Amino acid sequence: MSEPVEDQGAALLRARGMRVTRPRLAVLQVLGAGGHLEVDEIATAVRTRLDSVSTQAVYDVLGALSRAGLARRIEPAGSPARFEARTGDNHHHVVCRACGAIADVDCVHGTAPCLDPVGAGGFVVDEAEVTFWGLCPACQRAKAADD
Ligand SMILES: [Zn+2]
Ligand SMILES: [Zn+2]
Repeated sequence: MSEPVEDQGAALLRARGMRVTRPRLAVLQVLGAGGHLEVDEIATAVRTRLDSVSTQAVYDVLGALSRAGLARRIEPAGSPARFEARTGDNHHHVVCRACGAIADVDCVHGTAPCLDPVGAGGFVVDEAEVTFWGLCPACQRAKAADD
């Protein structure tokens, strides 16, 4: 049943001149389900598809996929690195201060960089990494119940 997804992953890898391996396909499948996943979560999910894949191997795959633009690494302050399959659209993230939940925020302008720095010290700026912080709906409800 997973054939079409595997074919899709293989096509993505080949389009970037990458070798198609079972761990790479498995990681792409896991990321393709959506969300912002920690390496441990990805490794656990990959192991339900493939036996004996080390966490280091998953790290290596995520590094290769990130360099190829097939995965995106985000690392909000105070949170472990997370990976997602939604790449190339310059979207931003909103992080809950209470529980660490992360949601996507569409880029206001749609293209990078969506913020134009005034006087970037001669740098050519191609990206603005924006993290919004707040309280997620569940934590707002919990807080309201506390009051
Ligand atoms: Zn929360
Ligand atoms: Zn995202």
